[in-house]
Amino acid sequence: MAGVDHNLPAATFVCSVCGAEAPSDPLRWRCACGGAFDLRFTPRFARERIVARAPSLWRYREALPIHDDGAVVTLGEGLTPLIALDLGRTVWLKQDQLFSSGSFKDRGASLLISHARALGVHAVVEDSSGNAGAAIAAYCARSSATGHPIACTIYVPASTSPAKLAQIAAYGAHVERVAGSRDETARAVRAAAAHCYYASHVWNPCFIHGCKTFAYELWEQMGWRAPDTLVLPVGNGTLLLGAALGFRELLEAGEIARVPRLIAVQAAACAPLATAFSAGAAAPLPVTRTPTLAEGIAIAEPARGAQVLAAVRASGGQVIAVDEPAIADAHARLARAGLYTEPTAAATIAGLLQELPGLAPTDCVASVLTGHGLKNVQPAAH
Ligand SMILES: *Cc1c(COP(=O)(O)O)cnc(C)c1O
Ligand SMILES: [Zn+2]
Repeated sequence: MAGVDHNLPAATFVCSVCGAEAPSDPLRWRCACGGAFDLRFTPRFARERIVARAPSLWRYREALPIHDDGAVVTLGEGLTPLIALDLGRTVWLKQDQLFSSGSFKDRGASLLISHARALGVHAVVEDSSGNAGAAIAAYCARSSATGHPIACTIYVPASTSPAKLAQIAAYGAHVERVAGSRDETARAVRAAAAHCYYASHVWNPCFIHGCKTFAYELWEQMGWRAPDTLVLPVGNGTLLLGAALGFRELLEAGEIARVPRLIAVQAAACAPLATAFSAGAAAPLPVTRTPTLAEGIAIAEPARGAQVLAAVRASGGQVIAVDEPAIADAHARLARAGLYTEPTAAATIAGLLQELPGLAPTDCVASVLTGHGLKNVQPAAH
């Protein structure tokens, strides 16, 4: 792809809270006011160019805010299969468990590490003991294997199980275990981010601009249409905010008539956004966390929580919570249909099953499998 001029419009980092433009310093990972940055960027969609390109998320080239083709870090990710599943009625599922590192987070990691490479960055830090850490580590390894070394350090709480860290370490990332709570891990990564690029899946808007390709792919795979209802998981909300952004861009470009109604699913064991939604609050409410099978969405203080609530409300949707037996049931039901997912991914389908009876029979309903079952193999219960 090197050398192709897509004549892309400029992308500017802008604060999601106060609207201030970011200074050009790449070490500034959030606004002086504390707000997270969004990107100001106008995408373009050219269907005849899209369909002529290879089956990866980079086929939407004119809609992705990376200017230099030489900086693109790719493992051929994207255009995951869309399959029909009969749950009493047909629902459409994107198989995002099939990404190279085993979760949808490769969408965001490909864009974010490409952005870092374009900036000339050779070392990054990130905090995540789960799939985001694995995806960032994978794309740093890919960049290093394709002529631009990027050293990666992932900060995790010392209590994180060694099994979850094996994949991150295998990619060659350095795992930095921090004694104490999650807060202390956050403090440690922020100290490191003062002098090293912070490749945060939560704070860096390039990650969300990778996740927006989920919406583009659904649009293309459904025959250039949007579904009526879209059921997605929400922990930090990177996939939900990405999908909401992608559909809003398609609407503004005149490519679709309506944005889908967004149903966001949390585990009842840790549901700050479902609680806030029910209470009519604009920001996540404090919750007491209890253990859950869906550990990948158990985020007590989502930094972009207010943005998630606003996106769901603007779509006419809702944030719901599912209990542990419902997650276990959905996990088993998916596996019996040939779909082996991690329990976190099954929580989304538990939410879908909970909401289906209330949806209009004519509604076109879509959802996602976010993570692969081989991430988290548990001995069979029966
Ligand atoms: C990260 C993750 C989620 C939740 O994504 P958020 O961006 O935190 O909302 C859901 N499922 C899996 C498998 C994940 O890895
Ligand atoms: Zn601000």
